[in-house]
Amino acid sequence: CNSLKRRKIAVLGSRSVGKSSLVKQFIENHFVDAYYPTIESTFAKTVTYKGVEYDCHIIDTAGQDEYSPINAQHAIGIHGYVLVYSITSRNSFEMIQIVYDKIIDFCGVTDIPCVIVGSKCDLQQNRQVQVTEGQNLGRANGAAWIETSAKNNINVGKVFELCLGEIERRTAPNQAE
Ligand code: GDP
Repeated sequence: CNSLKRRKIAVLGSRSVGKSSLVKQFIENHFVDAYYPTIESTFAKTVTYKGVEYDCHIIDTAGQDEYSPINAQHAIGIHGYVLVYSITSRNSFEMIQIVYDKIIDFCGVTDIPCVIVGSKCDLQQNRQVQVTEGQNLGRANGAAWIETSAKNNINVGKVFELCLGEIERRTAPNQAE
């Protein structure tokens, strides 16, 4: 069958870490400096990864804090997760494990296809989270990890490739849809 494989990816993390900017840079190839809080939007893009075309649906969420329950829309039917913190905010970094644990708890699994993203890596002078801390968090959760800048378009496409990789790695060939 040559039909496109549909993959639903949810982007989660604290408010104002740059979730919308990351998605916007990926989908529309531009960056805006102004901050418009997101309610929730879904974007679609066809991505070719390892010679296979994927019809990706990306859900940009409003942002979570320690008190937000996991919304069923962010768990049911989602193939992969992009969990974003800002390298300029220790608080947003600490939120990643909280959100991760809420998702695995909600889904009743031990592991999810996930990419942990340290955003705003152009703001080195304001760095609060070290590279090694990000790497360790990824390793501890069996997740991919990468730093990005939506502003300078660094590693933005890579985030979604890594996510597809994490999804495919866990998808048996006979359940590929
Ligand atoms: P969201 O609430 O997580 O969706 O965050 P936004 O994407 O709306 O971004 C919040 C603020 O951070 C905005 O003012 C953006 O312009 C800024 N921002 C987002 N990504 C970057 C980045 O890569 N570098 C810099 N310097 N600022 C960024």
